Amino acid sequence: MPDVVHALEVLPGGSAGPPATGFEVAYIAPDGPELRRPLADAWAVRFEAAAPVRAFASYRRQRNLPGRWWSATKGGHVGYESWLERDQVMLLDFDPAVVGIASQPFWLFWSAANGRPLSHAPDYFARHEDGTAVVIDCRPAERRRPRDWAKFEATEAACTEVGWGFRLLGAPDPVVVRNVRWLAGYRHPRHRVEPVASELLAVFAEPLPLMDGAAAGGESLAVLNGAVPSTLVARAVGGRLGAPARWFARLAGEGAVMAGAGSVLRPGDWVTFNGDEHQVVALAGTAVRLRSAGGAESVVLASYLMAAPDFVVTGAEPLPEMEPSGLLETLPEPTRAAAERWQRHVVEVDTGLLPGAEPGTPPREEYDPATRSLTERMQAKAAELGVSLRTVEGKRSRYVKQGLWGLVDQRATRRWEATGRADARLVAAVREGLDGETHLSTGTRSRLIRRVIKTVEATYADGAVPLPSERTLYKLIDALSTGRHTFGAAEARGLMLPRTLPDPVPPARHEIPPSYISRLATLLGLDIDGLWFQVTQPAYPGAGRRVVVPERLAALTGRSVHALAGAMPELRDPPPDWEMFRHQPQTGCHLCDARHPGGKVVRLLPHHAYICLRHGAWIGPPDIDHLAVDLAPFPEIVDAQRRHLLLLRRYGWAPTYDAVLTALMICAHIWYGDGRPLTDVFGVWNIWDDRVHHLIPLDPEKQDYIAYSASKLFAAVYPEAVTLAPLIASPYWRRLADGTGAEQARFFAEVGKRVTYPYNEPDRGGDAVAHWALADSWRPPSRPLTTYAPGRDRGTLPGLAANRLARQEKSAKWFSRSRRNQGRTLLFHGHLKPVLLRDREPRYVKWEGTIWHSGRTDDLMKEEVARRRKELQAGAAHVRYQRAEDRASSR
Ligand SMILES: [Zn+2]
Repeated sequence: MPDVVHALEVLPGGSAGPPATGFEVAYIAPDGPELRRPLADAWAVRFEAAAPVRAFASYRRQRNLPGRWWSATKGGHVGYESWLERDQVMLLDFDPAVVGIASQPFWLFWSAANGRPLSHAPDYFARHEDGTAVVIDCRPAERRRPRDWAKFEATEAACTEVGWGFRLLGAPDPVVVRNVRWLAGYRHPRHRVEPVASELLAVFAEPLPLMDGAAAGGESLAVLNGAVPSTLVARAVGGRLGAPARWFARLAGEGAVMAGAGSVLRPGDWVTFNGDEHQVVALAGTAVRLRSAGGAESVVLASYLMAAPDFVVTGAEPLPEMEPSGLLETLPEPTRAAAERWQRHVVEVDTGLLPGAEPGTPPREEYDPATRSLTERMQAKAAELGVSLRTVEGKRSRYVKQGLWGLVDQRATRRWEATGRADARLVAAVREGLDGETHLSTGTRSRLIRRVIKTVEATYADGAVPLPSERTLYKLIDALSTGRHTFGAAEARGLMLPRTLPDPVPPARHEIPPSYISRLATLLGLDIDGLWFQVTQPAYPGAGRRVVVPERLAALTGRSVHALAGAMPELRDPPPDWEMFRHQPQTGCHLCDARHPGGKVVRLLPHHAYICLRHGAWIGPPDIDHLAVDLAPFPEIVDAQRRHLLLLRRYGWAPTYDAVLTALMICAHIWYGDGRPLTDVFGVWNIWDDRVHHLIPLDPEKQDYIAYSASKLFAAVYPEAVTLAPLIASPYWRRLADGTGAEQARFFAEVGKRVTYPYNEPDRGGDAVAHWALADSWRPPSRPLTTYAPGRDRGTLPGLAANRLARQEKSAKWFSRSRRNQGRTLLFHGHLKPVLLRDREPRYVKWEGTIWHSGRTDDLMKEEVARRRKELQAGAAHVRYQRAEDRASSR
């Protein structure tokens, strides 16, 4: 089939414009080239093997969460753009009729009735076993707008034309999704356990109730423990056996799997849940006792556990599977014998016969299932043994859930619980090794693993004791050393931390956790990394990035989680809107910080924090650690912060953020520009120069401006920027800036009233105000390019990027050489990037080019802007996505 495709005439991809008639598709062929051709010629293309036609956009404030789903059908990943798409692709993957799935398979182009060019990239293309295909769009019913309907209808018409089906899917049944998500964890071939798998498939060839089928499979109760779902899911879906697939779909649909949770999750399983890894250490009815990788125990309801969005059984590297008799060897002989006796009794109650009874043996009368009910049989057993009916019921129910283990005296199993399903002989070897070690570092831990492996290999026959992966061995050692004071997080570094710190200082407002923890460590003479590891956990399993666990920090400091989260935004739940904060933590007011002992206080400040109003001290945008700036001689700068806050109250943080930044950029351009009139000594330039003269004085000894900081340049123009900002934030003035000639003249006049604005001809180069009116006033406010990412891998405070230091040094040198470059230096500060880079054009590759362009108003720029506006109005989705990609790559 591919040969036929290549023989057809194709157009190179990306050609603009709608097709003259009918539909056209553009796609990326499996061998690489981007192609565009009439849809009628593309019916035979194997779209299920095509690469996505657009990248999965990730942009600030997006409501959706893109990602990739591992598809068992495809044996690889399929992209999704939202949780709805993820759920739908998961269901497709679960559908036995589907043999291939591709996301964003093609762009469809057509013309609307009025000739307007339209395009759409459907979400998925799925190929069925019988060769038919279906195109799928996912959109929640409440978010289907009229414009979307036109696209869905056209897409459906296009599909009909080439013989594909079309489905518009909304939110699927949450119960089915939960079950399928849970089952999906078992679809990996690693879960196929022979010969049980083959037996089960034979038994479940026709739909059967779960317990009946399991009983027919023999070894019924053992089989139930995990083998059923893994085998049947693997076969039902991967192998596309009709009957089990239907059987399972029914089971999933009715939520029966959820009810049977206790029998399929079992002690020893590792699960991911709430962003952390846990091991199931015990089951009791519908409750599951978990122990996290960090050793913390918790009890959750099975239904709650499985409903968690990130719940997965990470059976990837389970503790080694082990025959029950091997596990029993770890128990004292009387305990084991008691369990086995109970097993005989329970089996007799269930089946009427003792285990191992000769064929043809008749059941004892009081245990005959043919004549006695289950309750009657249990009553008979209680009477026989002289125990209560409750005891018999309890034993039987535990046996159903956990097999022979359920019958073992719980006091005797406590030691075992921590090790899950580890081979008893392996556990013994690890215990032996641990006994010889009292102070173990990370290094000795890996030595211990090597020694354990050697012991096991020397003691037992080849392969008699299955050796797990290194990761599992580490976990086993952690589990066994819990309570031994060997390898806790801090202990691993040879340091014992107290349970509660004596006299812990409070965190400062907006402080970042590494700063707070570093101060605590300094004040109490503790190891900072040890402290950090004690109160953090990986951001997600396997992540190097660690985030603070508020409860742990609360326990350590004796302060409530509420109080800690009030001070430190990173600990808030739900997390704050990170866009409100600067992407870089910084030092704040030096006078406020003086009240917080223990060293540098690093905070995550909101975008609008420029001045500490209590102390009249400049904070400004993040810079290299600036010296204290006292603003007492500049009441107008302090006043500007108050006006800034009023603006914030009036317009909200996003328009204010954009307006103040844009105004700062405009002031920087004016300061940099060549419009400075030589005669006008009262112009705004003189005010700015004067402020800088005080803020960055000449050191008479060194004959240099050693107190230089780019942030102080921001302070110099800040009052005028805040005076300009309302014009930029206000929809009224924005409209005038984008209006007729007369309206624009009013806007420029108003700007001239607020700052000395020298340009009478808007077409002159270097005019940032005219540029903003032309290129940006009609667009939504710009947003931060990057946001803060909570957590770091060590407890130390973030250092300064080398390039920032270098740029700072360069600017300081420039400043010393010629004080005429303040405006230029200001423009080059990273703080202004969001307004300068907001519409990144490919040819503006260089940062300097971008700055130059941000003051341009020539004809070429006008054409460029006109083209962009037209594109935006046409609502061409691909243009928007292109832009999201550009933005992603610029970060
Ligand atoms: Zn202060």
